[in-house]
Amino acid sequence: MQLDWLVQPLLTQLNTGVLVLDAAHNIVYFNQFIARRADIQLSDVSGRLVYDIFADAPKAWLQRKIDGVLALQSPAFSSWEQRQYIIKLPHLRPVSSGSQHMAQNCSMLPVKAPNSAEQFVCLLIEDATDAYVYQQQLQHSMAQLELANRTDGLTGVFNRRHWQHELGQEIQRAKRYQHPLSLLLFDLDKFKQLNDQYGHQGGDAVLIELSGIIAALLRDTDVLGRYGGEEFGVILPETDMAGALLVANRICATAAGHQMLFNGHYINATVSIGVSSFSGQTIDELIQQSDIALYNAKRQGRNQAVAWQQQPETYLKKVK
Ligand code: GH3
Ligand code: MG
Ligand code: MG
Repeated sequence: MQLDWLVQPLLTQLNTGVLVLDAAHNIVYFNQFIARRADIQLSDVSGRLVYDIFADAPKAWLQRKIDGVLALQSPAFSSWEQRQYIIKLPHLRPVSSGSQHMAQNCSMLPVKAPNSAEQFVCLLIEDATDAYVYQQQLQHSMAQLELANRTDGLTGVFNRRHWQHELGQEIQRAKRYQHPLSLLLFDLDKFKQLNDQYGHQGGDAVLIELSGIIAALLRDTDVLGRYGGEEFGVILPETDMAGALLVANRICATAAGHQMLFNGHYINATVSIGVSSFSGQTIDELIQQSDIALYNAKRQGRNQAVAWQQQPETYLKKVK
């Protein structure tokens, strides 16, 4: 049965690109789907090498694929997840997708003409832009969720859970490689008074600004986190007690010297810091030692950094 009456309208109206190449990879045929999007006419490019017409096609890869289909006489497939597109075509999605080009699934089929030894490859190109866009949106949402899960909502530094997880990792690393590691816990001084004087919003503004100022003093490998209300922790990898005290004193001096403007008032806030260094303790012991040192910094008059020192057992119980 002659089926030209069926095949022609089908090829013209098909919502899939059909591109036929000969054994030398010259263009034999493409349908309206491709002609419209690539803005080319078959009569202008017929017989030309496909790579000359679609200059953005992954030439070496596509050559290998097509030769494989011809040699083995078996189909091949390429998904948009492997390669976003085989031939660069604009997509017709109305909404911006972050990419102007159609994501494509491509099947490559071996075809033989009747009564001839000549071999061809037919590329069926499906528009997979929808799946591509949904995947991009999903990845973006996942990244945002992951960030929100690690971050303190007010200050933008790491939250306690993530910070403590990082501390656990750093302790493992320090133990394994016998590297120094120190821990600062700092707490804003007389913060209740500050809240009473400037309101909770004033207190919040101080927490935001001060954590930003302190973050800027640290190295990229240091880890700042909000441990509690107005208490923060800093993990200092590759840093011994002497180095940690230098950092702690710099934080104290910077906080004390920094004036913050809130509702027309200049606010000054100081911090007290407890410093401990890793020498085989558990994570809880290390935090507790910084906490005891912080308590001592408060007792000794605030606005200062104090190093942890071995205490008698009874003292440890009292400050718990
Ligand atoms: P000290 O120098 O001994 O640390 O005195 P302090 O007043 O800072 O200590 P205290 O623990 O008595 O008070 C901490 C205050 O911090 C009480 C609490 O209302 C306030 N606070 C905790 N979290 C937040 C917050 O997210 N925003 C604001 N504005 N205040 C907070
Ligand atoms: Mg405080
Ligand atoms: Mg506190």
